[in-house]
Amino acid sequence: MQGEASYDFIVTGAGSAGCAVAGRLSEDGRFSVLLLEAGPRDTYPWIHVPLGYHKTFNNPKVNWMFDSEPEAELNNRIMYQPRGKVLGGTSSINGMVYMRGNAADYDEWRQRGCEGWDYQSVLPYFKRAEDQERGADEFHGTGGPLKVQDHRWQPTLARAMHDAAVQAGIPANPDFNGATQDGVGFYQTTINRARRWSSARAYLGPAKGRRNLTVATSAHATKVLIENGRATGVEYRTPRGIVRAHARREVIV
Ligand SMILES: Cc1cc2nc3c(=O)[nH]c(=O)nc-3n(C[C@H](O)[C@H](O)[C@H](O)COP(=O)(O)OP(=O)(O)OC[C@H]3O[C@@H](n4cnc5c(N)ncnc54)[C@H](O)[C@@H]3O)c2cc1C
Repeated sequence: MQGEASYDFIVTGAGSAGCAVAGRLSEDGRFSVLLLEAGPRDTYPWIHVPLGYHKTFNNPKVNWMFDSEPEAELNNRIMYQPRGKVLGGTSSINGMVYMRGNAADYDEWRQRGCEGWDYQSVLPYFKRAEDQERGADEFHGTGGPLKVQDHRWQPTLARAMHDAAVQAGIPANPDFNGATQDGVGFYQTTINRARRWSSARAYLGPAKGRRNLTVATSAHATKVLIENGRATGVEYRTPRGIVRAHARREVIV
């Protein structure tokens, strides 16, 4: 067992969500934050080249490479389930499509009792996250950490298919994160200057040099420590042995 350190917050998993949470919590310098990631730093070059998707899709260096259980509905087939195991998590290996999901799904969560999750309530957070290259409007924000841009590559075949769909009566939709999701169009991407803009890039990039944020890689959380019914810390496995860290405020899994 290594020495025990204390932080205000401990965040386990430096994926899409974990990087954003740790980045935001450490932003104003009031809190000390420990961010734990089971995988390595995101130094594998193919992570950052958008075409490199194919080099990370089934690469154990950066991917958990899970399998599903046998799926009864699929004649018991076992389905491959890639997930990022690296700084940035699955945002370091995904398809970089910027798609928030359908507003009606958020509204349904709210109708089922999930207070604060209707689309109008979450929209300000999407806008705050975003640095939209088309500029700000009712649905989009600029100046946020997440770079969003138009797809630079629109091959002739895709353009022809788009135009054919419009000719067939399907409405053209230049923005699937705008007023409606229906229609045909080219999606936007989380790419910037021909490089993947992962959650690690977006939220840990600006945090470099922040003394109140500790990012530990090859740090696999194995146990949430509980005292009197309250999560007070985390135990994690590293190449140098098991380490314990304590959280003065919260553990975020
Ligand atoms: C192949 C693929 C393509 C996709 N394409 C798109 C797309 O184009 N657009 C889109 O919007 N979405 C896409 N998605 C989905 C999207 O990437 C994920 O939904 C999202 O990244 C999940 O974020 P998360 O924070 O929940 O988890 P993750 O980003 O997976 O983060 C979890 C992190 O926790 C770490 N971790 C796990 N267990 C531990 C532990 N015990 N201790 C420490 N660390 C741990 C993991 O290594 C990982 O880094 C895609 C997904 C896949 C698999």
